[in-house]
Amino acid sequence: MNILVSGAGVAGLACALELGTRGNDVTVVEYARQLRLTGTPIDIRGDAIETADRMGLLAAIQKRRVRMSELTQFVDSDGEPVARFPLAEISDSDDDIELLREDLLRILADALPPTVAIRFGDSIEALTDGGAEGGVDVRFASGRTGRYDLVVGADGQHSAVRRLVFGPEEDHLRHLGVYLALADHPAEAQAEGANSIYNVPSRMAGIFRYSGKAVAVFQFRSEPIDYDHHDLDAQKKILFDAFEGHRSWRIPELLEAARVDPGFFLTSASQIHLPRWHRGRVVLVGDAGYSPAFLSGRGTSLALTGARFLAEELQRSGPDHTAAFARYEARQRPYVTFAQDRVHSGRDRMLPTTWAAIAARNEALRALPGPHPRRAGENAP
Ligand SMILES: Cc1cc2nc3c(=O)[nH]c(=O)nc-3n(C[C@H](O)[C@H](O)[C@H](O)COP(=O)(O)OP(=O)(O)OC[C@H]3O[C@@H](n4cnc5c(N)ncnc54)[C@H](O)[C@@H]3O)c2cc1C
Repeated sequence: MNILVSGAGVAGLACALELGTRGNDVTVVEYARQLRLTGTPIDIRGDAIETADRMGLLAAIQKRRVRMSELTQFVDSDGEPVARFPLAEISDSDDDIELLREDLLRILADALPPTVAIRFGDSIEALTDGGAEGGVDVRFASGRTGRYDLVVGADGQHSAVRRLVFGPEEDHLRHLGVYLALADHPAEAQAEGANSIYNVPSRMAGIFRYSGKAVAVFQFRSEPIDYDHHDLDAQKKILFDAFEGHRSWRIPELLEAARVDPGFFLTSASQIHLPRWHRGRVVLVGDAGYSPAFLSGRGTSLALTGARFLAEELQRSGPDHTAAFARYEARQRPYVTFAQDRVHSGRDRMLPTTWAAIAARNEALRALPGPHPRRAGENAP
């Protein structure tokens, strides 16, 4: 089959790999001009590890494994550690694999067979599903057109394919009240030390280091904010507004890193809930169909299992894509439900809403068994 995949993130590349190695001709169309490599380490968990193994990627993934969360601690305004990050609470088991999002994208891209072509700097603008007999006619932003047997929407939380086929984003998106922003912080890359997280009420700023890189990380609580997801300056302004007036610890320095980073990334903790992930010849995979929100730590695992189940079922069903889509959904749905149910304690731990709640969080973490950082006073304004 001739298949169009929208988005070259984890879901899109995994679909391209799984579909391409099964003899399909795959075109991936990616809005950005190159792979978007920003990101903190992501997790591969549970059955997604077996999926990575079946894709033939596990050895390469294991080689790039990092253990960043173990080295992460909460600090006070002087940078003194006050509590350990509760790794045990965010990890399913010691088998979980943490690696850079960048490394996973490169491993997937390097494994693509010659039956896959990626077209950067373009996106789907309109599509018309020709029904049982025909394919899907697609018009791209570049003006190109094409006809495909199937279209896979793997274009993330703000999926254009989902909007075009399933309706407006607000019909499917559940905002969980938190935003995440990431920026490269090259000046900090070679510095020694653990990863640090600093809280002010309802906000956190942090520095995460790994493999010779450093990332400035921000989270803040907020009602939904309406903005253009392709306007970088507008996204940076949202971060600056959220931290307006906060100058303690290293917040100004981290905001400056965000100001100058062309790969700056902002996202909301939002889930996508749809009763079905396919309509006609169009199907959704990854965050586009079932974002569990970054707070779950399971978006990447869902993208990998989703790609595998979809490709396996299409292979099994031959030309009957409707049956394949239905079986893909039946196999993937339990993983999605599990992931989407597990986000709330993470938010309360990471973003206490008052100074008293920050102090209580630190106290509670120090009461957990295990080694703790020296007690050097609580966060203070
Ligand atoms: C730059 C970036 C950084 C991230 N960092 C983190 C992180 O630190 N921690 C975390 O938990 N999760 C992060 N995520 C989200 C995480 O990658 C996903 O939750 C998970 O891997 C599932 O991936 P996905 O492919 O479904 O979605 P995504 O990773 O969001 O990939 C979607 C892809 O589609 C592209 N795209 C979007 N719109 C269009 C369009 N209209 N046409 C064509 N292409 C389009 C995007 O540019 C992107 O490459 C990040 C995502 C991105 C894009």
